[in-house]
Amino acid sequence: MTAQQEAELLDRVPTGLFIGGEWVDAEGGATFDVHDPSTNAVIRSIADGSPADGIRALDAAVAAQDDWAATAPRTRSDILRRAFELVQQHKEDLALLMTLEMGKPLAESRGEVVYGAEFLRWFSEEAVRINGRYGLNPEGTGRMVVSQRPVGPSFFITPWNFPFAMATRKIAPALAAGCTVVVKPAALTPLTTLFFAALLAEAGLPAGVVNVVSTTTSGKVAGPIIADPRLRKLSFTGSTEVGRKLIAQAADGILRVSMELGGNAPFVVFEDADLDKAVDGAMIAKFRNIGQACTAANRFIVHESIAAEFADRVTARVQEMTIGRGTDDGVTIGPLIDEDAVAKARALVDDAVTRGATVRTGGAAVASEGTFFEPTVISDVPAGADILREEIFGPVLAIAPFHDEDEAVRLANATEFGLVSYVFTESLARGHRMIDRLETGMMGLNVGVVSNAAAPFGGVKQSGMGREGGLEGIHEYLSTKYTLIPVD
Ligand code: NAD
Repeated sequence: MTAQQEAELLDRVPTGLFIGGEWVDAEGGATFDVHDPSTNAVIRSIADGSPADGIRALDAAVAAQDDWAATAPRTRSDILRRAFELVQQHKEDLALLMTLEMGKPLAESRGEVVYGAEFLRWFSEEAVRINGRYGLNPEGTGRMVVSQRPVGPSFFITPWNFPFAMATRKIAPALAAGCTVVVKPAALTPLTTLFFAALLAEAGLPAGVVNVVSTTTSGKVAGPIIADPRLRKLSFTGSTEVGRKLIAQAADGILRVSMELGGNAPFVVFEDADLDKAVDGAMIAKFRNIGQACTAANRFIVHESIAAEFADRVTARVQEMTIGRGTDDGVTIGPLIDEDAVAKARALVDDAVTRGATVRTGGAAVASEGTFFEPTVISDVPAGADILREEIFGPVLAIAPFHDEDEAVRLANATEFGLVSYVFTESLARGHRMIDRLETGMMGLNVGVVSNAAAPFGGVKQSGMGREGGLEGIHEYLSTKYTLIPVD
């Protein structure tokens, strides 16, 4: 990728707020800079929305709501389908943009475009399948009609780690259901969402149905929107810490909420596992997105009889990885998002080592302009280490041994999080037992990645509530209405 290609693409990214179908300046002309984490260079300066701008965006969503809800399902479906096709045409633009603002290797950004686009296609298909029920009541005196209505204006707050897919996973089902939206992307990675909003307009989306407000003052902008009685729904993807605050704010207006929060995924390798599969699964579950995924395997709980061999094999694979700028050929590990992320990875490794863990490879930050951390393997991590409790969000693979199945289950469930688990075993019976015993909303059985637009994504415990994708996804944006008609 040449510097000229990058500059030409960045020039095409809208810099305004997207409100009521127009690209507008923020109040007072305020702007902020977006950086490339692999060089720390400023790549674009964009509008920095104020609380008043947030309310202007909500005004536009509210104004568009009734007309959008009244469109034929086929019309909504066709627009989503056109958006899917436009994303295919701009696949390289979106992928490069994500790599520039977030840092992941280009191959992974292309994978995210494919994954994120599938939500547009899936929900274009679901838009025309919103059904109800009709039946006689048990007494035979009334006809009961159960129908589905759009929830209404919705507010989305998205994180920086999957800038495209986290936006489409919310926007597509909302539009399919007939809801209008305000989106607040993460200030670290807003460019992908702005570019995508322009594609939605090109796909024929009416003005005001999707509005985008980027801002560096998330709390100040989000607060008045959430408190506004015209808002009906809040959907958030991000940390459990922020999610908890937002649930409290949403309680005042009794808003419908969907929360996709943090994870601390166990990756359990039983003694009867196929180690080739387990090592392949480990590499993807740990190092995809430079370890910065809510679904990233956080704790490798490996049977004591194979823990040493597993550690040797993943170490050999990690030593083959190439660190660098995500745009460069052959790079498999890009930068972490910022200095804080590097400091956190370093502190977690240091704490584990102080408590007796062994560094097999890596373990340190890379001296450079960007925020790189070496892909790392640590083994023999003792109980009580911070790294087994906290979400790492970095390329550190931490291995702790277990003795028997009950202990594996106890360790896997010993967390307040419950997003996803990974289990490797060749025993069908044990695999089925783990589906029942592990307290997570999703599970990969002999596989290191589970995400699919056709599947319900979401967690239990403090990993959140609600599901995105699958048959369930559209119901986050629908309210059930029951009508009784007496039999004459
Ligand atoms: P974050 O919680 O810091 O920020 C997420 C979003 O919330 C950003 O847009 C941010 O600007 C905004 N925000 C922060 N404080 C706010 C406030 N007080 N009011 C309103 N908005 C506020 O999370 P992050 O660092 O961007 O993302 C990483 C986290 O997201 C990890 O914990 C990860 O596990 C989680 N995540 C979860 C999923 C999932 O589907 N479960 C997917 C991706 C990421």
